[in-house]
Amino acid sequence: MSISAAGMQDLHRIHQQLTDLRERLAAGPKQITNRQINVTRLEAELAKAKDEHKAARVSADQKQLLLKAGEQKIRDRRTQLNQCNTNREYQTMVEQIAGDEMTNSVLEDEILEALDKIERAQQGVALAEGNIVKAKAELVKATEAVRATEDSLKTDVHRLEGELAEREKTLPADFLEVYARLVKARGEDALAKVDGDCCGGCYQQLTPNVINQILMERIIVCAGCGRLLYKA
Ligand SMILES: [Zn+2]
Repeated sequence: MSISAAGMQDLHRIHQQLTDLRERLAAGPKQITNRQINVTRLEAELAKAKDEHKAARVSADQKQLLLKAGEQKIRDRRTQLNQCNTNREYQTMVEQIAGDEMTNSVLEDEILEALDKIERAQQGVALAEGNIVKAKAELVKATEAVRATEDSLKTDVHRLEGELAEREKTLPADFLEVYARLVKARGEDALAKVDGDCCGGCYQQLTPNVINQILMERIIVCAGCGRLLYKA
């Protein structure tokens, strides 16, 4: 004894709708989690940008201190220049001053580069902060959207589960045995509608004999995929 094709189709419809609703229910929290992960990632990027900014400032400050010391050294040497006793001492001092000036000139270039780096690092911090603001807004929006649909999805699941339980109560025992085992293992894929002369689940071609038995509403399971077949 089996159930009518219309009854099978209806059972299948309920299972398909339940699968869809449960997937949508499960997808909601995942969307929220993904956005939370995004915020956390962007916060790590901001921390990194701030570290880079700080490091650039420390480096620039150090170079500026070195430059000041270098400039003082040149002033000192210029004073010493007037106290040189020999021409040789004087020449050596002049060469040392030239060397110091060269060093300071390199430092000045490096300071310009460091200031440039600070500016870029500041832009990096501002960008990272802006990204976090956007990501947090998306998180709030996603959370609200999920919460708004969650209740109605749960209500629909509850209603369909009730509807399914009512249908299942009326199923003949021999059918119920096969059906219950398959549904437990495969959910909506426990059933398949015949599509032309093929199984609608795995598209294996069915023999005319099998199709005839399906039309007689016998309990037929697809040899290819194991789904319960019906023809609507
Ligand atoms: Zn199949």
